[in-house]
Amino acid sequence: MGQRVPAADGAPSHSLLNETPSGRDATDARWMAVALEEASAAAALGEVPVGAVVVQAGSVVARAGNRTITDGDPTAHAEVLALRAAAATIGDWRLTGCTLYVTLEPCAMCAGAIVLARVDRVVYGAWDDKAGMAGSVGDILRHPRLNHRPQVVGGVLAAEASLALRDFFGGRREGAATALESGRADGDP
Ligand SMILES: [Zn+2]
Repeated sequence: MGQRVPAADGAPSHSLLNETPSGRDATDARWMAVALEEASAAAALGEVPVGAVVVQAGSVVARAGNRTITDGDPTAHAEVLALRAAAATIGDWRLTGCTLYVTLEPCAMCAGAIVLARVDRVVYGAWDDKAGMAGSVGDILRHPRLNHRPQVVGGVLAAEASLALRDFFGGRREGAATALESGRADGDP
């Protein structure tokens, strides 16, 4: 269970996050596939394709895709929208017992929101070497000084999540300059 060992100070290696098969692999892949559907829907809106799903007791509580451009809201990342919707559905801001699936490693804002929401477990797809705060650039989710540390698993269906992002940014480049800078990332994730 190497992926559930709290990270030491500094960025842990990717292999540490993704080295050990577990009985949850199939379940995690199934829910990540749902998050990837949300990412595709976001891409269809012209959004950076990132999707998130909140699962509790084997059921989807909330699902969302990135809506930064659509809503004109820099905080409208898939994770934040999914956490808000999950809290509304459950009727409690504490998302105890919930797992958040997201296709891209959470940024600083989303990692902070995940900690505040007391999410039990975070499963993400692709790593984000430019903004990821779950092991790549830093690790807010497992910061030793914070009072809540979710379990973290990275790299679930990472190839699929990365491909969606690459396709999106490749297509945007072919289409010349766009409003990418107002989106979720400044370039290739
Ligand atoms: Zn974010």
